[in-house]
Amino acid sequence: PQDARSFKRVILKLSGEALREPGSKDNISPEIVERVAKEIKLALDTGVEIGVVCGGGNFWRGASASARGMDRATADYVGMLATVMNALALQSALEAEGVKCVVQSAIEMKNVAEPFIRRKANRHLSNNFVVIFAAGTGSPFFSTDTTAALRASEMGADAIMKATMVDGVYDSDPKKNPEAVRYETVTFHNCLAENLKVMDSTAFTLCMDNDIPIIVFDIGGCGNITSALSGDDIGTIIHK
Ligand code: UDP
Repeated sequence: PQDARSFKRVILKLSGEALREPGSKDNISPEIVERVAKEIKLALDTGVEIGVVCGGGNFWRGASASARGMDRATADYVGMLATVMNALALQSALEAEGVKCVVQSAIEMKNVAEPFIRRKANRHLSNNFVVIFAAGTGSPFFSTDTTAALRASEMGADAIMKATMVDGVYDSDPKKNPEAVRYETVTFHNCLAENLKVMDSTAFTLCMDNDIPIIVFDIGGCGNITSALSGDDIGTIIHK
């Protein structure tokens, strides 16, 4: 696998749930957002360029709403708008840490965010701004994991850091099987062969086809983004 230490630019995928206090009625926990912002700052200080794709699952998931009778495309637009709320909360927390940061939205919302413009995003990243990519791909029927794969591909990122509540990819479900073993590294091919769930299939295929490694790690631990970037034995790297 590619040496994590050599990453120059990464896309951090933050699920919406990573911003919520488990069990709380609040969709966004300001304390958690602040902690995540501090983690991102630590990682930035190592010199890596960071783009962030925010999920929206702490507010809304299109597929769940659709399963309960709502028109899928509309439900997905609601989901994309949810990601903008997370993006704005994170931007504010990053700025409070003194981090330069812009939000670019795939759905135009020019009073609160720049529109997504690839060349501008590229320049911001080169200037060591954090770019938060909001509103997913701007199209229904996709996920924010797919957005991360797409933005990583078009921004020339070296890897996707997929922050989750689980500390990597296991050979079986660690919640059901106490003997489950975490992979340190695993190939795209083996994930498919062993039916290991890393991302939805559209997102996974995009990463595989464009040769973008995915690092799955737990955002909960202190300094974990930096550790995962520095190649410490943390999480799982999925590679070619
Ligand atoms: N979504 C979409 N197109 C995209 C990205 C997201 O329609 O390109 C919608 C979709 O309904 C999804 C919701 O936004 O359920 C929130 O995103 P996601 O479920 O990926 O968030 P996460 O699970 O990462 O918090």
